[in-house]
Amino acid sequence: MTEFDLDLFVIGGGSGGVRAARFAAQRGARVAMAESGRMGGTCVNVGCIPKKLYSYGAHYAEAFAESAGFGWRLPGTPTLDWATLKTNRAKEITRLNGIYDGLMSGANVLRLQGHARLLDAHTVEVALEGGATVRHHARHILIATGGTPFVPDVPGRELAVTSDDMFDLPVFPKRLAVVGGGYIACEMASIFHGLGAQVTLLYRGEQILRGFDDEVRDFTAGEMRKHGVDIRTHADVARIEAAGAARRVHLKDGSAIEADVVLYATGRHANTAGLGLDALGVRLSPSGAIEVDERFATSVPGIYAIGDVVGRLELTPVALAEGMVLADELFGPPPGQAARRMDYGNIPTAVFTHPPIGTVGLSEQQARAQFGAIQVFRSDFKPLKHTVSGGSERTLVKLIVDAKTDRVIGLHMVGADAGEIVQGFAVALKCGATKAQFDATIGIHPTSAEEFVTLRQVSRT
Ligand code: FAD
Ligand code: NDP
Repeated sequence: MTEFDLDLFVIGGGSGGVRAARFAAQRGARVAMAESGRMGGTCVNVGCIPKKLYSYGAHYAEAFAESAGFGWRLPGTPTLDWATLKTNRAKEITRLNGIYDGLMSGANVLRLQGHARLLDAHTVEVALEGGATVRHHARHILIATGGTPFVPDVPGRELAVTSDDMFDLPVFPKRLAVVGGGYIACEMASIFHGLGAQVTLLYRGEQILRGFDDEVRDFTAGEMRKHGVDIRTHADVARIEAAGAARRVHLKDGSAIEADVVLYATGRHANTAGLGLDALGVRLSPSGAIEVDERFATSVPGIYAIGDVVGRLELTPVALAEGMVLADELFGPPPGQAARRMDYGNIPTAVFTHPPIGTVGLSEQQARAQFGAIQVFRSDFKPLKHTVSGGSERTLVKLIVDAKTDRVIGLHMVGADAGEIVQGFAVALKCGATKAQFDATIGIHPTSAEEFVTLRQVSRT
């Protein structure tokens, strides 16, 4: 019989891996984790956290401009010191790396710094940073290796950068071209525009943010354009070439634009290369993600996968939840508690564009297709702040209601603090709140959020 020296070996110290390792260790499991890069993974190092910090930084541009209406007089034109922003971000990320390391040692998880690969369904080999290799035999192996940016095979692609590079660009780009129209493209376009770049966003389709509510997409594109982001749709890149220190992006319609940096934000692919999965027969989906069942088991017994590498919903809170569900599954729930189950319904999300989007539940299009008879309540308005700030930004709030049951099945917002506001309403949707219950809720005045409980007029059915 095989002797296991571990109950669980986790490959990948990102959101999902860290959470699963910690929860498993708290149940008394013997756990080790290998991380080849910096602790915390994508979210901490090149994702959510640095992105949100830069978004905060970028919002100051509007705040400076809007402060004049409130009587503030600035001594001169504020300018961005890119080096200071980078340094302060790096300091905070290093602090977070340490906190993640501390979480592992605090939970008695053996931390290995290096690249891991599977030798068989229960054996992992880690090439440690110092050059040595170690092997461990684990009852269960968890692959939580996340994803990596995907750049299509366009001529000159080596001249483009990805989101991984954006946080530490040596020189702040005066002109930035962004290719793509999803979360990362739209957020980066807004953020770098706010920080002072002239931004052109090149999207191949009809409208940015495919998959979101159509009205939200149109409204957000309109607001981003008002802020000054040049969004070009039906813009297909033919090739990229160097133009001195700059880049020239040629489009298939024959036009070209010049930029100092070209960012490709065209999706991410699962990180499975070099793990040894082929030899073991771990099944991948056509998109390259690891196929798992509802218990996160792969096609090979003993091997599990969670987070971006399974590519269900590439969001940190989803990877965290999957990690906790898997720990319950393998080692039992905490004493006195029921085992968690993963529920992908009504997962709220935010896109940190300027203005940001917050959304939970179905889009109007999905709701119509699934429920047939729906009622749409919506309002767009100038927030109180901008009556004095001189800003022209508007806010959109929108509720979608199942006409038969009165249940609110979709809630959307585009406007300041949309992520903060929609998180709370997501609880209401999770509880199955009806429109009548929204109406019976007293608003908090004066806020934008109160609009959600004062929408009385059906806009369309
Ligand atoms: P990761 O966090 O990617 O962790 C995987 C880890 O595995 C990495 O640290 C990697 O180094 C390590 N690894 C890989 N292969 C090996 C190996 N063979 N051996 C050892 N280690 C290995 N989500 C949100 O919810 N909100 C946001 O605002 C948000 N913003 C984002 C912004 C950007 C620019 C990006 C790129 C992503 C953003 N995301 C956001 C998505 C979020 O970062 C991911 O969904 C989340 O990090 C996935 O966690 P994970 O544990 O699956 O993988
Ligand atoms: P997305 O899948 O969100 O968007 C990819 C974009 O690239 C789409 O607009 C897509 O167009 C376009 N695209 C794909 N292939 C090509 C191609 N060959 N040529 C031109 N355009 C192409 O991926 P992102 O990279 O933006 O982000 C990855 C994931 O990370 C997100 O899906 C999200 O889950 C997560 N994330 C979450 C954030 C948050 O929570 N705030 C922030 C950032 C990332 P089309 O629509 O036509 O297919």
